[in-house]
Amino acid sequence: VLFLIPGWTGVNERTLVAVKPDGVQRRLVGEIMRRFENRGFKLVALKLVQASEDLLRKHYWDLRSKPFFRGLMSYMSEGPMVVMVWEGLDVIKTARNMLGENNPADSLPGTIRGDFCVEVGRNVIHGSDSVESAEKEISLWFGQNELHCWVHNSRPWIYN
Ligand code: GDP
Ligand code: MG
Repeated sequence: VLFLIPGWTGVNERTLVAVKPDGVQRRLVGEIMRRFENRGFKLVALKLVQASEDLLRKHYWDLRSKPFFRGLMSYMSEGPMVVMVWEGLDVIKTARNMLGENNPADSLPGTIRGDFCVEVGRNVIHGSDSVESAEKEISLWFGQNELHCWVHNSRPWIYN
């Protein structure tokens, strides 16, 4: 399986970012993608998906005993999501910084949650929180043939 493949480190680090159903409804897809492109990350996978309950349960398995879990399942099923994989140096941590805090009220202006939402139950975006979760989530949402290998032509201007 995918998470056994080594090498997703350094400039090849990958993270799963998903614009949640509220983000899609609120037409934030272009704005969010623009931020990742502008930062210098490379898009390696992208799709619009209506997530199944089974997929969502696996995705949020760690939160299964939380009181908000049922609400979270229904929130994430309310419409399609735009799910993507971004690649680059320290992309997992940097993406989390770009997202802002779990609770939008604690998110600084300039972050995605700090700019576009107000409530934790409608926080518009997901980003993997560690290498382990990124690898797990990418293999959950994407088949290996959906992850594209290509060369960023601006790479030498982004990395020295
Ligand atoms: P994240 O990694 O910042 O997305 O946060 P978590 O992994 O802790 O939680 C996953 C998602 O569950 C969050 O993005 C929220 O959509 C939702 N969530 C987390 N905590 C709460 C909560 O206290 N109430 C509600 N309604 N949703 C929550
Ligand atoms: Mg999380």
